[in-house]
Amino acid sequence: MELKVYNALTKQKDVIKPINNTVNYYFCGPTVYWFQHIGNMRAFFVMDSMRRAVKYLGYNINHVMNITDVGHMTSDQDEGEDKMEVASKREHKSPKEIAEYYWSICKKDMDDLNVESPEYICPATSVIDEIIAFVQKILDNGYGYITKNGVYYDTSKFKNYGALSGMNQNEKLFGARIEVDDEKRHPADFVLWVKAKDNHIQRWDSPWGVGYPGWHIECSAIGKKYLGEHIDLHGGGIEHRTVHHENEIAQNFACTGHDVVDIWFHLEHLMFDGGKMSKSKGAIYTLSSLKEKGYSPMELRLFYLSAHYSKPQNFTFEALNSAKESYKNLKNLILKHKNGANRIEKSKLNALKQKFSEYVADDVNAPLALSVIWDALKNNPDSRDIYELVLDFDRFLGLRLDEVKEESISIPEEIIAIAEERKTARNNRDYATSDLLRDRIASLGYAILDKPKNEYEIQKK
Ligand code: AMP
Ligand code: ZN
Repeated sequence: MELKVYNALTKQKDVIKPINNTVNYYFCGPTVYWFQHIGNMRAFFVMDSMRRAVKYLGYNINHVMNITDVGHMTSDQDEGEDKMEVASKREHKSPKEIAEYYWSICKKDMDDLNVESPEYICPATSVIDEIIAFVQKILDNGYGYITKNGVYYDTSKFKNYGALSGMNQNEKLFGARIEVDDEKRHPADFVLWVKAKDNHIQRWDSPWGVGYPGWHIECSAIGKKYLGEHIDLHGGGIEHRTVHHENEIAQNFACTGHDVVDIWFHLEHLMFDGGKMSKSKGAIYTLSSLKEKGYSPMELRLFYLSAHYSKPQNFTFEALNSAKESYKNLKNLILKHKNGANRIEKSKLNALKQKFSEYVADDVNAPLALSVIWDALKNNPDSRDIYELVLDFDRFLGLRLDEVKEESISIPEEIIAIAEERKTARNNRDYATSDLLRDRIASLGYAILDKPKNEYEIQKK
């Protein structure tokens, strides 16, 4: 089945057209100057869902994610200070140490969330030579100019500048900001290479003086290095649509003379307390802080799955609690089917798989795909066939359903209370009450196994 994705460029759902059935996929990765909160993690969950959708539908994949460890200013429009330098001063560590530390935590959170590792993960500082060559090509092709502060992209040379966000060069909202360089020809022009001030820590030699790359150029250079001049799918957060991705398109065209990316997709933000979850806006949660509160990564993943990536998702503890409850129910249902003896007709299984695949193929509609898993689990007699179908669905959902085991089921408090009552009865040699309580537990769907020293184990029947 072919995958259709909403393309910000054509403003419609487009079918991907990979060469040799292999999808070249690029996703803008983290800036590793601080902890990634669960808003950022939604971005990596979406990155993963798109990757899993591609694979589920039978394509091969070449997936690249950059790590921004240089050049990302505190404002996306080249202003303020480099985030890595700010963190380095704050924590009295080198930018390299900062990058390694925060990336290791981000990677651990991705692993916990069952985000599959892209084929290539590339820090910007590891491709400085490729970046310099890319900037040189832009200059050679007449799309750049040099000022006392660095190298700029000349947006007036690229007639499609603004096509992604639907704004032309003059409409771009840059006019009002304070200019950092009076030699810049147009406020929308953006920096490709920055000449380093004396106290700037990250610096490399270049034909334009000692300095460091601008933020946008890394994604063009890394994309070209690993995927060449054809990228099927390129994604990132919605805020990248108006600046960062617009600039990537311009850079790619200046270098190659043609468009490189077919489909641009964007995820909307995780919202909290009426705004985008963001470090600068106050309260945020990380995966670790949620784990400390007793939530598991898979419960968070199920919460993410309940909203379409193109819609903002509101984070509340009520919603997370409901995902927690759902994950428990899911596990219980799965175990029932795992041990089920019934057989399900092939045509019925095929119809469920067909529906599930259609939802995945239609712009990666995770909430609708989830509805199929519930349908399969709830509306069929206990059957190993359903169990196997659900594990197949989990190649897309990524909920680690193959790891669900008997002992991982949490026993309802009501059952535990009855079991404890029974233990007291047995301690008092009141076997009549003990038997009555055992029957009550059985009628609620659980079995109790007696162990030495009056201990016991509860199992789901
Ligand atoms: P950063 O580390 O700030 O470059 O962000 C990494 C990724 O997380 C980017 O793709 C951002 O678009 C994304 N992001 C940041 N805040 C949120 C949020 N509240 N919800 C979803 N994605 C976000
Ligand atoms: Zn990028």
